[in-house]
Amino acid sequence: MSKEHAEQFPDPDPSLWAPAPKGPLGQMFAPVAGFGVTLSSMFRPVATEQYPEEKVPTAPRYHGRHQLNHYADGLERCIGCELCAWACPADAIFVEAGYNTPDAQYSPGERFGKVYQINYLRCIFCGYCIQACPTRALTMTNDFELAGATREEMIYEKQDLLAPLEPGMLAAPHPMVEGTTDAEYYSGEITGPTEQQVAWVAEHRPDDPTLSTVRAEGSH
Ligand code: SF4
Repeated sequence: MSKEHAEQFPDPDPSLWAPAPKGPLGQMFAPVAGFGVTLSSMFRPVATEQYPEEKVPTAPRYHGRHQLNHYADGLERCIGCELCAWACPADAIFVEAGYNTPDAQYSPGERFGKVYQINYLRCIFCGYCIQACPTRALTMTNDFELAGATREEMIYEKQDLLAPLEPGMLAAPHPMVEGTTDAEYYSGEITGPTEQQVAWVAEHRPDDPTLSTVRAEGSH
């Protein structure tokens, strides 16, 4: 550094960032000052969480395990469009669509999610997938207890992700509500299974357990 430069830009005064000088009392307690933090903390409420014996609820919008939802009549919301898989920055989602048929209608419209996998070793819980989903089929729960002994166990399949049917719903597959198209489903006009849907399931799957709990709403 040149002499002119040193004169123009002198070193700053070190006292600007040095700790404030201690008074006589400060100097007397300096050797045990660290215990002050300990003593003041001893009388505060304990912050330790006794997990897993006691589970503390997460924030309501916590991003946990995913869930595949149903419409009120029990049909699946997922239409196998793969938008969630394309939106995923970690390439954690794999979707393969299947075609609905009159004998096996799983979701409103043409296609349903036949294969649906989320690899939780890749997922970063960013939530881009649920933003991308056009039917609100995919949402995130508050479940954070995701563990497995093998890599395979951390790949969740469709049956692991499907939300349980709510009381009154009718398990898919079954026909859509008569006289409707997928547009009525998307706009939220379906409020529950109809008697015709219940009759169809009773004829094709008489042992279906949801037949005993379904609440039919009459014709649409
Ligand atoms: S979960 Fe949503 S975005 Fe993903 S395939 Fe199904 S409908 Fe499409």
